[in-house]
Amino acid sequence: MNPDPALFQAAAEGHLSAALELLRELVAVNSFTTNADGVDEVARITAAAFAPLGFHADYVPCAYPGAGPHLFLSRPGEGDPIVLVTHSDTVFPPDEEEKNDFRWEARPAEGRIYGPGTIDNKGGTALIWLALMTLRDVAPEAYARPSWLVAVNAAEEVTGDDFGLVTTHRCHGKARAVLVYEGGPIDAQGYHLVVSRKGRSTWRLEAEGRAAHAGSKHHEGINAIDALVGVLPGIAALTDVAEDRTVNLGWIEGGTVVNRVPHEAAAEWECRATDPASLERADAYFASLSGPTANGATLIASRAGHTSPWPGGDGTMALFAKWETAANAMGLKAVAVPRGGLSDANHLWRLGPTLDGLGPSGGNAHCSERSEDGSKLPEYLEVASMVPKAVMNALALAAIGSAPSRGQPAGDF
Ligand SMILES: [Zn+2]
Repeated sequence: MNPDPALFQAAAEGHLSAALELLRELVAVNSFTTNADGVDEVARITAAAFAPLGFHADYVPCAYPGAGPHLFLSRPGEGDPIVLVTHSDTVFPPDEEEKNDFRWEARPAEGRIYGPGTIDNKGGTALIWLALMTLRDVAPEAYARPSWLVAVNAAEEVTGDDFGLVTTHRCHGKARAVLVYEGGPIDAQGYHLVVSRKGRSTWRLEAEGRAAHAGSKHHEGINAIDALVGVLPGIAALTDVAEDRTVNLGWIEGGTVVNRVPHEAAAEWECRATDPASLERADAYFASLSGPTANGATLIASRAGHTSPWPGGDGTMALFAKWETAANAMGLKAVAVPRGGLSDANHLWRLGPTLDGLGPSGGNAHCSERSEDGSKLPEYLEVASMVPKAVMNALALAAIGSAPSRGQPAGDF
């Protein structure tokens, strides 16, 4: 198949105003992660938009306390599903939106639409819709052939593997491709697509000493702060540029008043790495800190959270090549970039070849403030990124969808 990009361009342009209308409806509903009613309404608006495309909606309870339902939109077809991933929740509580008068605001002169979730990640949802509408119009066979699953996380903004587990179950552990529609920046180099993400471990270290009068009984005390700070340089030293690993000591507390030998102290940090083995080596070091110290205190190290890295690899780069070919056919350039932040890709990449950053371009995600002098601007979508990104996706999906899926080796699509 050798599709004509101009046909895709015309189709995407034809559906753009409807895609922006869908986005406006989604942005109008507050869907802070624990606003379950709002998340539910966003899921229902999304399901209604995809129904004419032949998608059946299932709502699945989310394990995170107070969250709304995950949404799974499925369209049956051949082989393992092509999974298109987005999320319905945002980081903005209703009173923050109110306080900052943060709502849908199109500023055509700037080429931007401001509003909660415009880029993170309701714009991604609208982009999936626009890409699939375009594909259906221009390449109906490539659209009809594969099995599709649009997976909408209700609680992406809080860490947890609940959505990953539910999605894995629905796919029976296998996907033809996992495509994540988080925003993708555009700069002089081209369209950034994300090909790996760091994983993250979070840790807490507690030091237990013995309190004593700092004047008369200093020798009977065991200083917990001394014990704790003695090991912090070793923790920080695990930042390793060559290994692409970072450690960030982010919180520390200890003692009460200076005329007491402090009996308690604690610190917390996070560690990120792209290579799973590198993160495991750091975790093993942190765990080994538990035990007695030279001054007689006891250290207790505990891992508070863990999200595995998405290391990328051959399957991801084969997928990236499809998007690169699509970009080139449009006279554009796609660039493969690693990222330090987490996304659903960290939880889903084991299902199949994974690519991220497929959504539109925008900025200031997680920001709601606007200052008079313009030094603070809230989250926005760059409207001009919608059509090219939808066309790029539809062209790549046409290439995947027009090929048979059965009887191929793993990692091929
Ligand atoms: Zn976010």
